[in-house]
Amino acid sequence: MILIIDDNPKSIKALSLIIRDFGQVIFATSGQSGIAMTMKTKPDLILLDVEMPGMNGYEVCRQLKADAATRNCSVIIVTSHSSVDHEVAALEAGAADFITKPLNAPLVRARVKTQLLVKKQADELHRQVEQDGLTGIYNRRYFDQQYAQEWRRHQRQRSPLGLALIDVDFFKAYNDHYGHQQGDECLRQVAKGLHSALRRPGETVARYGGEEFAVILPYTELGEAQKIGLWLCESIRDLQLPHAQSEVAAHVSISVGLASCVPDGRSLPTSLLSDADDALYKAKANGRNRAVVSDRVID
Ligand SMILES: [Mg+2]
Repeated sequence: MILIIDDNPKSIKALSLIIRDFGQVIFATSGQSGIAMTMKTKPDLILLDVEMPGMNGYEVCRQLKADAATRNCSVIIVTSHSSVDHEVAALEAGAADFITKPLNAPLVRARVKTQLLVKKQADELHRQVEQDGLTGIYNRRYFDQQYAQEWRRHQRQRSPLGLALIDVDFFKAYNDHYGHQQGDECLRQVAKGLHSALRRPGETVARYGGEEFAVILPYTELGEAQKIGLWLCESIRDLQLPHAQSEVAAHVSISVGLASCVPDGRSLPTSLLSDADDALYKAKANGRNRAVVSDRVID
């Protein structure tokens, strides 16, 4: 999606016609409304007029680049001034490129095409940084970042934050028996199963380590965590992946440790993690293939 920000409807029309082959084009006629629309729609590219009443294009660009929510949208500055100074001002404001009026259609198309390609590659890189290569779900790096962020949010809102740590039962024996390729496939299936067990927005499942997974559960008290623990176990049981070496089931199963707390000034993110880890330890000690919330055992 491409956003055109220009105070002149004729300019918007002319630009739209030139770039219509590149996908959906939306527009705003002032800097303020352009910033609001960027927040809402996160366009891939913004074509930004410099000469606008109120907030000019440079200022709009600076504001977009200063905000983490809009920083990743590429901006091409469009202006009727074709001096080096203006070009430098555009780049210093954070623009990716610079186009002068009167518009030269092939040149505009070439520059737009290049920036869309750069954006696509940047998005792909971004995805790879957050994604676990084997299972396709979020990786540990993303989990750590998201967990810290959710911790602060729940602290501000004085809301309960839940956490689940999950371990695949007898996974080493599974690998030894079925081979590493099948082991990898098992982890992919488990990741998919866990993902499908979650029902609310913001619930984030990540690969935490080898055969360990973690789920962030926003606004979740212990009672709710208990239900979610059961669903997670069921979702893996329902996969019915044969596991000849398991001592607790004929199929692949998981042990889940859950914890919840209302973050306050005295508690630390690591304390909730270690609560969940203790619960996971108990789930294993009590026979695996089950979810344990604090001191309660659910079969
Ligand atoms: Mg203008």
